[in-house]
Amino acid sequence: MTYNPDNIFAKILRGEIRNNTVYEDDHVLCFDDIHPQMPVHCLIIPKGKYIDLSDFSANASGAEITAFHRAIAKIIKIKNLSKGYRAICNTDIDGGQEVPHFHMHILGGAKCGKMIEKA
Ligand code: AMP
Repeated sequence: MTYNPDNIFAKILRGEIRNNTVYEDDHVLCFDDIHPQMPVHCLIIPKGKYIDLSDFSANASGAEITAFHRAIAKIIKIKNLSKGYRAICNTDIDGGQEVPHFHMHILGGAKCGKMIEKA
């Protein structure tokens, strides 16, 4: 599978679609999810063209991977999630991924409930 530059997060990165930015640095953008499932629901994405978690883990540079993980800690502080949160990376067909640009959901601000529902 090749990266599709028409995906909605690529458009956000190119400035073609507006977003509510939570955090940004050279490698990472974080913005609020447009359909929040919890009081806090934001998405962390790399600026590089990676389809999903597997692609990012296999092919991103050390600097990109470090920046992504450092950003998580910063965003948790920005969003005041001191009581905890859930991080989710839906991946490919079985994972129910809708947008084919790697992203991590950060959900919190209340108890998250059951981890998964059976399909
Ligand atoms: P996933 O199913 O893991 O691919 O999640 C995609 C997420 O992107 C969903 O939670 C959507 O609500 C969110 N989303 C789609 N379009 C936008 C947008 N323009 N701005 C912010 N979030 C979006």
